[in-house]
Amino acid sequence: MKPQKTIIIGAGASGLMAANILAKANHEVVLLEKKHQCGLKLRITGKGRCNLTNSCGRSEYLSHISSPEFFEYAFDNFNNADLMDFFTEKGVELKTERGGRVFPQSDKANDIFFALLKEIEFAENVQIIKNCDVKHLIKDNGKAIGVIANNEKILADNIIICTGGKSYQTTGSTGDGYRILKLLDHQIITPIPALVGLRTENGYPISLQNLEIKNCQVNITDKDKTIIASHFGDITLDEYGVAGPVILSVSREIARAFDEGKEMFLNIDFKPKVSEERLRSEITATFKERRTENAVNIVRKWVQKPMAEEILRVCKINPRTMGYKLTERDVKSILWYLKFRREEIIGDMGWREAIITQGGVSLKEIDKRTMESKKVKNLYVTGELLDLDADTGGYNLQIAFSSAVLAAQSIITKDNKGIKNNYKEK
Ligand SMILES: Cc1cc2nc3c(=O)[nH]c(=O)nc-3n(C[C@H](O)[C@H](O)[C@H](O)COP(=O)(O)OP(=O)(O)OC[C@H]3O[C@@H](n4cnc5c(N)ncnc54)[C@H](O)[C@@H]3O)c2cc1C
Repeated sequence: MKPQKTIIIGAGASGLMAANILAKANHEVVLLEKKHQCGLKLRITGKGRCNLTNSCGRSEYLSHISSPEFFEYAFDNFNNADLMDFFTEKGVELKTERGGRVFPQSDKANDIFFALLKEIEFAENVQIIKNCDVKHLIKDNGKAIGVIANNEKILADNIIICTGGKSYQTTGSTGDGYRILKLLDHQIITPIPALVGLRTENGYPISLQNLEIKNCQVNITDKDKTIIASHFGDITLDEYGVAGPVILSVSREIARAFDEGKEMFLNIDFKPKVSEERLRSEITATFKERRTENAVNIVRKWVQKPMAEEILRVCKINPRTMGYKLTERDVKSILWYLKFRREEIIGDMGWREAIITQGGVSLKEIDKRTMESKKVKNLYVTGELLDLDADTGGYNLQIAFSSAVLAAQSIITKDNKGIKNNYKEK
């Protein structure tokens, strides 16, 4: 019997994985990539180190995913341990860091990329076509039968579309899949940037750009001061607002509501482990004890120097004021800044900086046991293109990999059951 032919649209994390699984099962694969190179986003993940997954247990894993009830099928079929075995068997040594984050031992995302590429690059049954911009899917009688790319028709038995989201568009993820699938009547949940820095009313002076502040309590509140999202961790300051790990996590939780116009405020508690009362007495006592030191030196007791200068600027305290001259009002303002300062959120840092896209192809239209579209037969949707997203920590790449494995294996299983081959040569 003639091998089944599958077109994969997009050679990112998901497409490369799907190609590996299909190629190993002797399927004919045509991998179409819009850019001049494959895996451009994968190669910059984890700041070039690629946090490919997380080593935590199943229930914790699923708690980090937006729709665990959808993703659990793909995850149980190919979970984090399977993913680690997959790369280890391909000769990539892995290591696990703080918070269960898994990286290649070499700290090189390229090692993950090349491990995926090497099995398919010269395989006889895999054709990789770069600079190939897929514009449309061809449907016949309710089934996907091919694509139009670079003004040519390419036909196949099955199609996996994994064109990614909309962030970091220079890597090729420009949201094409949304348009292509919308034309085939798929519902697209509005894509919005997530895992992204937040813009605030005032931001921080340029001199504080990228300053990292550890162990902060970040709360997002509405206009009635009700907490909407809350995380503890490290932040980085930005001319336009704040970024850093804890802000990325918070941004993912508020992205949809913010996009829908909800007013939101950012409160950073720089000293969350010290109560308000204790900090008040500590500041008062320090003013007295260090009576001949200037205000900057004194405030440095709680924060780094550039931040101490910023606090004094915002609190309108002359940095040269000696401790003995600092007043009760000054105690109050420094306490307010360190624990209670609240700034309105006016936006996010946008698609250029967003790590992921929230939204995408509605999960209602995808069979979670196979990743096949319920609207168009023989069409499979995987990776970030789906309305499925997760926290930082390696979870998003696992979505891309697990959904790809499930789609590829569903195609292989279908083929083994002898489902009629509808592929017609061009
Ligand atoms: C800076 C950054 C760091 C990240 N770090 C991590 C991390 O450490 N851990 C983690 O879990 N996640 C991380 N992510 C998220 C992760 O990279 C994505 O979730 C993942 O790459 C999604 O895989 P994908 O295959 O679905 O899409 P992509 O990797 O985006 O691949 C889509 C591919 O489709 C191609 N394509 C698009 N349109 C067309 C078309 N019309 N025709 C042909 N080809 C097309 C694109 O060129 C691209 O190659 C990071 C993201 C960014 C931006």
